[in-house]
Amino acid sequence: MIRLRDWITSRTRSDTLSERVKRTLVQTLYTQPGSLAIGAFNGIASTAIAAWVSEIRLLYAGCIILTVIAVARVTAALGMSPDEDKTSTRQLELIYEIGAFSYAFLLGAISAITVVYEAGAAVEVLMIANAVGYGTGICARNAGSPTIAFGQLTLVCLPIMGAALWIGSLPYLALFVTILLLIPAMMSITLKVFTVLRDSISAAETSAKLAEKMQALARTDVVTGLANRAGLNHEMVETMMSAPPGQQIALVWIDLDRFKEVNDLLGHPVGDRVLAEVAHRLQDVSPENSTVARFGGDEFIVFAPVADRKESEKIASEIHAEIMRPIRIEGDRLEVRASLGVALMPDDGKDADTLMQSADLALYHAKVGGRAQTRFFDVSMTRDLVRRREIEDELRAAIQRDELTLFYQPIVDLESGHIRSFEALVRWFHPEKGELRPDEFIPVAEESGVIVTLGNWITAQAARAAAKWPEDVTVAVNLSPLQIRAPGAALGILNALREAGLHPSRLELEVTESTFMEDNHATAAFIEELSEKGVRFALDDFGTGYSSLGYINTFPFKKIKVDRSFVSGPNVGRKSDAIIRAVAEMGTTLEMEIVAEGLETIDQVHAVREAGCTLGQGYYFSRAVPDYLAAMLLAQERGPDVATRSA
Ligand code: C2E
Ligand code: CA
Ligand code: CA
Repeated sequence: MIRLRDWITSRTRSDTLSERVKRTLVQTLYTQPGSLAIGAFNGIASTAIAAWVSEIRLLYAGCIILTVIAVARVTAALGMSPDEDKTSTRQLELIYEIGAFSYAFLLGAISAITVVYEAGAAVEVLMIANAVGYGTGICARNAGSPTIAFGQLTLVCLPIMGAALWIGSLPYLALFVTILLLIPAMMSITLKVFTVLRDSISAAETSAKLAEKMQALARTDVVTGLANRAGLNHEMVETMMSAPPGQQIALVWIDLDRFKEVNDLLGHPVGDRVLAEVAHRLQDVSPENSTVARFGGDEFIVFAPVADRKESEKIASEIHAEIMRPIRIEGDRLEVRASLGVALMPDDGKDADTLMQSADLALYHAKVGGRAQTRFFDVSMTRDLVRRREIEDELRAAIQRDELTLFYQPIVDLESGHIRSFEALVRWFHPEKGELRPDEFIPVAEESGVIVTLGNWITAQAARAAAKWPEDVTVAVNLSPLQIRAPGAALGILNALREAGLHPSRLELEVTESTFMEDNHATAAFIEELSEKGVRFALDDFGTGYSSLGYINTFPFKKIKVDRSFVSGPNVGRKSDAIIRAVAEMGTTLEMEIVAEGLETIDQVHAVREAGCTLGQGYYFSRAVPDYLAAMLLAQERGPDVATRSA
């Protein structure tokens, strides 16, 4: 009887047995309503035969009531679909209980009547076999609901047992004992079946829930809690499937600008918190029915059904404003900026892949166009892409075909007005496209890796030109981060110097802060190796990046070039003046020269000199010119004899 106790406790804590398991068990009561009908028909037919053979009136009445109950039960079972949620589990159970109990008791009572009225051996056997058979059969069938199973079994057996005792002869007493033993035996079997049934259903439930959880986990980004790439794909398909025909959907691709610097300078934990905060803001600001996902690294995607293009513009501008709001982390104020690319379905892409490509292209244009801005896709971008591919193909050939040339722009001593060095700036004279600016093809060269070949060629060319200048004039060459990381980079530069016969101390390499973003070790080794040989380094475009003083401290820079946006351009003012002053002051302390770039007017020259810059460069002095003109500038300044050594 231990099992019975188990079952009783399991019933009292039925709320812990999940409601769905319980419902599944109750549903087993309603499976195969056909068997219910056949059973009922058999009972009714047997009773009718018993009544007819024995001519006991009470049996006719029993037959009629049995029919009424059976019809009511079958109608109820058919009219009530247990798969639908409209009827509660308890209701389903109760309705079944009422029908089952009354039917069982009546069948037992009819058998008891045949015994008490001594209907004859054949009739009694027919009805008792019917009743006991029904009781045991139904008990097994309804094991999913032990209360009902036991109830039916006992209700069908008790009247027969009572009648057997009433007669009291030995065979009837034996019948009494047989049925008495049958009840606990059936109960034990039923409980066993119930336990197995319940456990397997709840195990299936648990594993289904677990699978669901795993799937959700696989679609979630751990750092931000947003959907990840897989989650985004899933949500995109769902959104597109459920969207009414003609529904427009906007895809906003967000890329945080210079996020790597945050990670490098403030550490990954801070970086993660910034990402989490950005994610939080994106969720806040995005429409309710949209998907917000982190698409790896510092990229996010918002995928939102919209009414029209106007609404997508509104969403994008809200996202942008929200991200630009300063973030506070442990008292520090961080300004995060982001570039956004937006594309609209179906105009800019009829399927998810094309839509993503369009948004990616728009994002690319936002980044190239100076970052911290939003771009909407338009077809001209595809044309630009084609142009980039062309450039990439032609760039390789251009080096061989001598279409590339170096121009030289003087860097002038602001005190004496003398040329101290020239910056080599590459020019491409394309036979069909005309003159191409480095801003247009250097990024392509970087992306395609052509920059390594191109860079070696530039250094060799610049070294050769400088070898013809007076000893005190140096040449500055711009280096891409990628060039530095190429194997044997330092050796290549030393070879170029040797071949040209230029002393390493006359070469200056201009690097930007982005050089230090990626591989610190290789970059450090490169700078160290060349510095030892006497090559100098200048930090270019200072003020446009994170402007970390850390790099200046770590690496042996001889020069800092203040970006031209501080000298000329729309943002020049008291603030930029103060920055130049601070940088110049630092230069004096650390014995570094400060170059002001982009000097176009005499006023600017005065201003930067007054602020403490020692060197200047810009259209005010000269544009970048071919090598023979550079030599001429030197000749003008120093007289023809000193200007060139080899002429
Ligand atoms: P950068 O290193 O900052 O070079 C200075 C740029 O400013 C040059 O543009 C120059 O022509 C321009 N500039 C000089 N003075 C003035 C001025 O007074 N006003 C204005 N508005 N601009 C002035 P350029 O030659 O188009 O070069 C653009 C960028 O392309 C360079 O910026 C550099 O980052 C890259 N670049 C140029 N040549 C090379 C190269 O040989 N190798 C590599 N890796 N990059 C290069
Ligand atoms: Ca430069
Ligand atoms: Ca520069």
